[in-house]
Amino acid sequence: MKAIKILLAGLIIASSLVILNADKIMELFQSVSPQEATIVQKGKESCPVCGMNLPMFYKTNHAANVDGKEKQYCSLHCLVDDKEHNHADTKDIKVVDVTSLKFIDATKAYYVVGSKKKGTMSMISKYAFKNLEDAAKFAKENGGTVMDFNAAYNEAKKDF
Ligand SMILES: [Zn+2]
Repeated sequence: MKAIKILLAGLIIASSLVILNADKIMELFQSVSPQEATIVQKGKESCPVCGMNLPMFYKTNHAANVDGKEKQYCSLHCLVDDKEHNHADTKDIKVVDVTSLKFIDATKAYYVVGSKKKGTMSMISKYAFKNLEDAAKFAKENGGTVMDFNAAYNEAKKDF
């Protein structure tokens, strides 16, 4: 009887840990509901480089046209990986604007690099904004440095 009780207690603890972990996943700053996410890549909602779920890491999603097809990456990290190591010819690079949750031209975005909000695939987070005021406000609240796409790209390259 005692063994069964211990086993049951163990099961209850194990299942509550699973629930806690699920809550943590839902609380990621990057996450949006699948309804809020724009998926420009045909066929799948996962990053072609690392396989992570795109809506779960939506606020750091990037997209690019590679050989006539849209590819959608979980992060700048995976876009850099594809371009630098798989030699993907990435054209028309886009990034999610954290404020509007819409894709914008990455080369015109303002990136906040190194804020206290956690990054995707990187210890140093990179969040993009369409408007400089939004980026400055985010950096004031969360720390980090505002920079352009090329500078953020070079920061992401340092992870490899
Ligand atoms: Zn990825």
